[in-house]
Amino acid sequence: MITVMKFGGTSVGSAEALRRVANIVVNTEGDKVVVVSAMSGVTNFLVALVDESGSDISVVLESFRHKHLAEARQIMDEGSPLYEEFLAEFDRRMKSMEAAISSDRANPYYRDLVVSQGERFSSLMLSFLLRSMGYKSEALTSEDAGIYAVGNPMSGSADLSRTSLGMTLNVKPLLSEGIIPIITGFYGMNDDGAPLTFGRGGSDYSAAVVANAIDANMLEIWTDVDGFMSSDPRIIPGAVKIDEMNFGEAAELAYFGAKVLHPRTIEPVRVKHIPLKVRNSFKPEEPGTLIHHLRKPKGDLLRSVATKTDLSIITISSAEIAYRPAMVAKIVEKIAEIDVIIYSISTSLSTVAFLVHNTDVKDTLRQLNGLGGADIERIDVKNNVALVCAVGDNLLSKCGVSGDIFGAVKEAGANVEMISEGASEVSLNFVVPMGKVVDVVRLLHDRYIGVGQR
Ligand code: ADP
Ligand code: ASP
Ligand code: MG
Repeated sequence: MITVMKFGGTSVGSAEALRRVANIVVNTEGDKVVVVSAMSGVTNFLVALVDESGSDISVVLESFRHKHLAEARQIMDEGSPLYEEFLAEFDRRMKSMEAAISSDRANPYYRDLVVSQGERFSSLMLSFLLRSMGYKSEALTSEDAGIYAVGNPMSGSADLSRTSLGMTLNVKPLLSEGIIPIITGFYGMNDDGAPLTFGRGGSDYSAAVVANAIDANMLEIWTDVDGFMSSDPRIIPGAVKIDEMNFGEAAELAYFGAKVLHPRTIEPVRVKHIPLKVRNSFKPEEPGTLIHHLRKPKGDLLRSVATKTDLSIITISSAEIAYRPAMVAKIVEKIAEIDVIIYSISTSLSTVAFLVHNTDVKDTLRQLNGLGGADIERIDVKNNVALVCAVGDNLLSKCGVSGDIFGAVKEAGANVEMISEGASEVSLNFVVPMGKVVDVVRLLHDRYIGVGQR
């Protein structure tokens, strides 16, 4: 039995939190492979460092060193041989981070290289904590473990077959010796052996990739809330924990904004039928949410609502475009050339509308202008809209339900700008103005989920 356990930033954010994590790990039966994020705040700190060129590097490094060592001293006896060994490796990693920061900024993967440094330190600390408790453990970077990635800067995808080989060579042998591997989340190495991150929040995806590559029996995502909830608890204080979900439901919600899981976490485990649990590292006695292949329908109309904000609708008008699929194909192809994510497409006789991120509008328009424009009559852009993704048991099958949902949206004073119904088997997605999205979610949640139901 192999369990892959991932701990997020808050879960490894202090000496106290690390102790809690170490206890969860050692109390888990069978073989375990641990994947960690950077300590909370560390990745943001590194992002700011890249964004604000001109910072005094020595001051930055000193504050980074201080933050980590202040916690490390609370988990190991300063002056003990183990602490000395830790410090030597810690300083080696600090030197390599300094080299990374001072390397060529023009390198397209420079940002990946710098922002992925935090995980190297949190993994080291957890591994040494386990050793101080008498367990065998080894801290492995993604390079050590053999996690491979392909793709553009800050949005890599794992190369699953190469990573599987990496796990067989570098991680499995540790398990047979009773060693607990602690692996850095967030990034893999590209063809040049350089770090390529999986996007912000990418450690969940890293853990799913490791679970796939090592053929784990279970993936546990340990975070700071009780499980996958009916909505973002920061927006909906009455949000409730969901006991059980299927892969499709969790995948849609994560893709459309439920931050508790990185948007791409589900696929690597779904393809191998590896069940996933979302659990609270601050309350290990809670069972969390089980996400797996099948679940019994409970008849809940609405189970969870997620939102993706800061989107724009780009509408292209062209006479009878519906009769010219080749033209639609050309438009999609042109947008795909620059890797823009299209969250939704809808067509009418003479228009085709795309939902993209606000930050992708400029590049998308430039691409569309590159089409020559002969056939395009007009392009309109509506900025600052949000997509609402609603998942429920009977949303799509029960007659009149979507009408009720849109009625509620109207009550919130919002205009539905775009709808995608039927494209997914499990969710009803629609777009409203950004300024109305919180009201819409609150109203839907209050009406169809309420407090205390699941
Ligand atoms: P970690 O550092 O453990 O990866 P994140 O901050 O990335 O944690 O994700 C957990 C947070 O996601 C929660 O604290 C919660 O505020 C937010 N969240 C958003 N949507 C949901 C949801 N549907 N269920 C649970 N948490 C959610
Ligand atoms: N530390 C990374 C981030 O903050 C990855 C993660 O937390 O999953 O984005
Ligand atoms: Mg996260």
